[in-house]
Amino acid sequence: MEHVPAAAHATVRGRVPLPVLRADGGVTRARVISFDGLADGREHLALALGDRASDRPCAAGVPLVRLHSECLTGDVFGSQRCDCGPQLREAVGRIADTGGYLLYLRQEGRGIGLYNKLDAYLLQDGGLDTYEANLALGFGTDEREYAVAAQMLRTLGVDELDLLTNNPDKATQLRAAGIRVRHRVPTGVHRSPANARYLAAKAGRGAHTLGDDPFDPRDVIRGGRRGSRGSQDG
Ligand SMILES: [Zn+2]
Repeated sequence: MEHVPAAAHATVRGRVPLPVLRADGGVTRARVISFDGLADGREHLALALGDRASDRPCAAGVPLVRLHSECLTGDVFGSQRCDCGPQLREAVGRIADTGGYLLYLRQEGRGIGLYNKLDAYLLQDGGLDTYEANLALGFGTDEREYAVAAQMLRTLGVDELDLLTNNPDKATQLRAAGIRVRHRVPTGVHRSPANARYLAAKAGRGAHTLGDDPFDPRDVIRGGRRGSRGSQDG
């Protein structure tokens, strides 16, 4: 009997037209895609944008893709403790302009869940940074994983992409799952007084690169390694 990995069995369940708001106040035509058979059984979504939102699948060009992990407080309520909301809206606009997919992954709070994330916020108010707080609660510093994202991409027929992210780990995990990441495209940095400490922790502890600390574009094109000018102290 032929061996097929379980992760290969997902199928598209529905492609539903969904007009969505852009950061500039305009509306863009999208399709929200649901799946059957995703490896972890969660209700992850793909938002097809730009030319990928058309009725017929479009084969032209390498899609721009963003992996966005759910952040209820940031995405929905506009929490100033993180930059998830502005990151999400920036990604929708940029992918709509270029053509591609936003994968909305239901792994809240770096994968520890909503209530645990709220517990971590209290620890952070006591002086811990976002990584230390997760460790204090008995979790890893980042429990997110992207194998299911690779499964979604394969189901959509995407085996090569440009990845919109400042997080080199996302590119590494996608490559490990067999997806070709052609370019890593940096996002903007959405700083506010309330999230400055969070962003500094991401840069210092999570090897994120911040957009106002410019990338060496040659390095990004070579495959997502963190450039010397992209490093951040802290
Ligand atoms: Zn957030």
